[in-house]
Amino acid sequence: MIDLRSDTVTTPSEAMRDAARDADVGDDVYGEDPSVNELEARAADLVGTEDALYVPTGTMGNQVAARVHTERGQEVLVERESHVYKWELGGLAQHAALQVRTLDGGSRGVPTPEQVREGYVEEDAHRPGTGLLTLENTHNSKGGVAIAPEKIDAAAEAAHDLGVPVHLDGARVCNAAVARDVPVSRFTEQVDSVMFCLSKGLGAPVGSMLAGTEEFVARARRTRKLFGGGMRQAGMVAAPGLLALDNVDRLAEDHDNAQVLAEELADVDGLAVQPPETNIVLVSTESAGRSADAFLDDCEDAGVLGTQFDAHVARFCTHWDVDREDVEAAAERIRDAL
Ligand SMILES: *Cc1c(COP(=O)(O)O)cnc(C)c1O
Repeated sequence: MIDLRSDTVTTPSEAMRDAARDADVGDDVYGEDPSVNELEARAADLVGTEDALYVPTGTMGNQVAARVHTERGQEVLVERESHVYKWELGGLAQHAALQVRTLDGGSRGVPTPEQVREGYVEEDAHRPGTGLLTLENTHNSKGGVAIAPEKIDAAAEAAHDLGVPVHLDGARVCNAAVARDVPVSRFTEQVDSVMFCLSKGLGAPVGSMLAGTEEFVARARRTRKLFGGGMRQAGMVAAPGLLALDNVDRLAEDHDNAQVLAEELADVDGLAVQPPETNIVLVSTESAGRSADAFLDDCEDAGVLGTQFDAHVARFCTHWDVDREDVEAAAERIRDAL
């Protein structure tokens, strides 16, 4: 089976397993795990912030950030197809008591400064006030598009002019950096916090990082504890995460493989393929009048796994555990199946 459901399906390398076994550990709730401390320092360095916090999942990172930046009952501006809105169980309402206001970020999934200004609500006797803007890069639902840093800056500056802080859901921000050929830190110049996943294309078995100022991270550390994310000898999973930080440049291979997969699938009758910018390939089955579900069933029978994104859209994701031969074989199997 060629598993293209997600870049989360990668299994840890031998080196990561060795690193886990040999990790220096301590009780991280007391701040005494040297592996976690090193990971947090190196992650902050990568994204260009004062400090960073190791969290079990990207979801927890986003939810902790929302809670820290806001007060109960405020509004949060989110892109209407964003992960934090669509795929986190309504956590913004559950964990931070926020009311969501959605913005349509168009095909690139990023709101314009004008949209941010229009979405902003000023606090008064009747209105709750806007407490946060969240952005996402790469934008998952839009097909892993790598949003230009200038677009992130512009939306963030518009929010800041209104006194609203900005959180970047950068689960795949390293993919964006590789695709745009800029340092990861270029995307964080105008935002107040960023989350990125170690457990996706970077290949770690577990974990994400939440980064920002020292003050933000100190508050996030307390909120992580509140959410049940204070882990003890977490160096066991942080040590493989340290190796994952070395895998940023390797993401280019995933992007090249996505390109090959897209080109091959574009030749298949009945499929419309969105040209990928990173490691995500969106395939529409609409013109053939077939549901994504039925298409994915056929793919599975032929030995290829993807995920359903929409009634007529399937997603295939390239990652560390599939190489060029695998994606070529996947395209061939899908072509034969159809
Ligand atoms: C995967 C993902 C997350 C959440 O990460 P988990 O570790 O799966 O909780 C958040 N945002 C985006 C854009 C993602 O793709």
